[in-house]
Amino acid sequence: MTAKILDGRKISKEIKQNIITETENLEKEYGIKPGLAVVIVGEDEASSVYVSMKAKACKNVGFHSETYNLPQDTSQKELIQLIGKLNNDAKIHGILVQLPLPKGFDENLVNSHILPSKDIDGFHAINAGNLMLGEDGYIPCTPKGIIELIKRTGTDISGKHAVVIGRSNIVGKPVGILLLRENATVTICHSRTNNLAEHTKNADIIVAAVGIPKLIKGDMIKEGAIIIDAGTRKVDEKLVGDVDYDEAVNKASWITPVPGGVGPMTITMLLLNTLESAKKSCASVR
Ligand code: NAP
Repeated sequence: MTAKILDGRKISKEIKQNIITETENLEKEYGIKPGLAVVIVGEDEASSVYVSMKAKACKNVGFHSETYNLPQDTSQKELIQLIGKLNNDAKIHGILVQLPLPKGFDENLVNSHILPSKDIDGFHAINAGNLMLGEDGYIPCTPKGIIELIKRTGTDISGKHAVVIGRSNIVGKPVGILLLRENATVTICHSRTNNLAEHTKNADIIVAAVGIPKLIKGDMIKEGAIIIDAGTRKVDEKLVGDVDYDEAVNKASWITPVPGGVGPMTITMLLLNTLESAKKSCASVR
């Protein structure tokens, strides 16, 4: 079997087209543009690249965007003060603090200062709690994009055995909860899991979110499985996923490439969450 490619770039383009239309309608009807503020502290090269990609994505769909590049020696208090200012800024519907923050910052504490209604990353405890409870709230962008990719295969997730590898708060755990919501039977694996292959070999859906290049080999995959590879690690200047693509492509029914799979979907879901926040702000003034 040769897998079909789940092309995150192509799917993102389709979704962005709808975002552009909805943004134009919002502006016509209410005179507002969805606004995203991205805050970065320090000069981490990878983070700076992500931040400029997010600003560019905003511009391309007609959003208002603001980027705050704060110096490395910014204090946590100063960062929280900026968040307070953005919370009160009517032009801003989404606030994103680029992670990781430099050493000494308490990321959970910083995120707790973002208004839950502007927490388009879904990292605030209120949004994380709502996800857990099955209530409405912002869903973290990478997990939201992963579920959208799986749905695009046309497969009914209900009753499928999904194995998620990784249990971080930003990818693994929320993906597990979202798959449960879709009625999958979910196994979450992590660094202490004994015999990872025993789990993955039984999976109809594998979501890998680890950061170890080519951890998942072809012989760890059931024939016909759906493979979503969120992992990214630079090897010899090239981005490599957690899945050995060349082996997996001959076993899976669907597979995401790295790059061009989960990554573009993450940014698109960020735009979708920001649009949702802007729409809610219009509904509240109606
Ligand atoms: P993380 O916080 O470092 O979590 C990695 C997870 O992998 C942990 O739960 C860890 O287990 C588990 N793990 C480590 N070694 C393992 C092993 N040998 N077998 C099984 N599990 C193992 O990373 P993250 O933030 O979730 O990100 C994961 C990957 O996704 C990274 O490559 C990151 O760059 C990528 N990512 C991509 C996007 C995107 O938009 N494309 C977005 C976010 C993240 P323990 O909990 O036991 O330590």
